[in-house]
Amino acid sequence: MACSHSHSPDTQSALLQAILTELQQVKANQTVFESKLESLALPPTSPPSLTGSIPPLAGPSSEVPATPLVKPADLPTSPSLVARKDAATGKYSQRVILTTYPGQVGINPIPLNWGAKTAEERGPVVAARSAKSLKVRNAIGAYSGSYSVYRALAAAAGLIDPSHKPDYTNTEPPVEVPHNPAWDDPKKIVALDPYGHLVPQVYKSYLDAGIDARPTISITKAHIKLNDFDEAVRAGSLEVDGKVVVRIPTEWVNQSRLDSAAAKTARAADDVAAKHIEHAAFDAGVELNVSKAAVEPVWYLPGIAERFGITEGELRRALFEEMGGAYPELLTRHDLHTFLPPIGGLTVYIFGNPDFIRDESKELTLRIHDECNGSDVFGSDICTCRPYLIYGIEEAVRCAQRGGVGIVVYFRKEGRALGEVTKYLVYNARKRSGDNATTYFKRTEDIAGVKDMRFQVLMPDVLHWLGVKKIDNLVSMSDMKVSITTLGDHAVFSVDPPLTPSDLLQYDAIVNSGITVGRRYEIPEELIPPDSRVEIDAKIAHGYFSTTTVTDLAKTAGRMWEDLAH
Ligand SMILES: [Zn+2]
Repeated sequence: MACSHSHSPDTQSALLQAILTELQQVKANQTVFESKLESLALPPTSPPSLTGSIPPLAGPSSEVPATPLVKPADLPTSPSLVARKDAATGKYSQRVILTTYPGQVGINPIPLNWGAKTAEERGPVVAARSAKSLKVRNAIGAYSGSYSVYRALAAAAGLIDPSHKPDYTNTEPPVEVPHNPAWDDPKKIVALDPYGHLVPQVYKSYLDAGIDARPTISITKAHIKLNDFDEAVRAGSLEVDGKVVVRIPTEWVNQSRLDSAAAKTARAADDVAAKHIEHAAFDAGVELNVSKAAVEPVWYLPGIAERFGITEGELRRALFEEMGGAYPELLTRHDLHTFLPPIGGLTVYIFGNPDFIRDESKELTLRIHDECNGSDVFGSDICTCRPYLIYGIEEAVRCAQRGGVGIVVYFRKEGRALGEVTKYLVYNARKRSGDNATTYFKRTEDIAGVKDMRFQVLMPDVLHWLGVKKIDNLVSMSDMKVSITTLGDHAVFSVDPPLTPSDLLQYDAIVNSGITVGRRYEIPEELIPPDSRVEIDAKIAHGYFSTTTVTDLAKTAGRMWEDLAH
């Protein structure tokens, strides 16, 4: 029999009341649940105590127990997972935050206004995932570029406390790189943080509040000692001026060695190091005084995308996919536009008075050098990299000695940013197939799919950070006639001779960024190693700047492996 009796108005009211109560209970549970989630990411005993202009953090509710765990099944849309027991050692939050979303409970990034007029308006770049920084972080990625991976190893092995707070006492720059108008231009600087060297000073209030904002640039002073410069002084091509090129006081070196030896126990007769000390006690030669800055990449994604003529979405998707699905926030956090990529950065070497960089009345010489470890450090003769680097440093020094200033920028873009493994594969292919300047670029492209991935379009940012407005002397031969047109959202690069988008080269990149270049010059012929003529002639024939032209490219051949056995 069907239930057919009707409810009295009182009964209906009671029923509605019950439903309402139930709904209120659900809402209350939801609030408690959200608070519980909150408490998982922040240590329960460290409520945030932020002051000043820093947006307040949503802290854990005091009634919430510190140890609730919710099964992932209860949380179908949660971006987090419960950590496996063995990983929950107290170093990190109990819940693994796989990614975050804009508008998510507790997510409240510190405003980061790229290109704002002052450090305060701009805001610090916060990429850390430490408890107090996770919800206010305004940048994707990790500090220290590729070295973040070593930090992970140290943390996993228990060698570093992930919550270690750096002590920046006495780390401030001994050389000033002050604010200049390019810092306020969100298009001029997109590949580094112009305030990166000033973080402990200008963002002190954030650091004091426990926010882990880290310097991405540091500046120091040093001496360079290479035998090449001793030789240059002996040959008379480099002058000892007592300021930039300084003679090392040999007596001081020898006395220092004697003192050091006296402070130690006697070395054994067969000690190789002891023989070296004996042997080395002669004219100590010269050294170069230099100021230098280490710069880690900080990318403003809309600006990076614009340089390549693509959309920010295309850039984010490619980064996510090509990095093996790392940094899901590239896809989920469209409110965050800053990314610290896990790649190498650059070093700036300054010869002479660094203040002259910003003084347009002073002569400026520049060498932009892309890393080639095999040649730069180990002297491989297959390319011109080290001779070019040494020549660039000497030219920078000579400019400083004339009363100007010299800059050498060293980019970590090994093997045209293809990496050393690809480079050696190309070497093998070249040496086995008749090393010839006509096939130089093709051999690289056959293997890597591209000739070059150095992307000089991002290179001039460091010059704008330094305050460079004009370059009198550019020691570089890389040049390519490149024109860019757009087709829909895509940039179309047309080059003569036809090359790939990666062939946006130094001179064009510098001039297109608004810096004028006076004179370009290349390495003197006598400094080019014979085996590297293949590279040089291929580049000249391809449009690189040179005062010479190559009339018969096929005649430029490198030596084969058999030729090396002598
Ligand atoms: Zn090289």
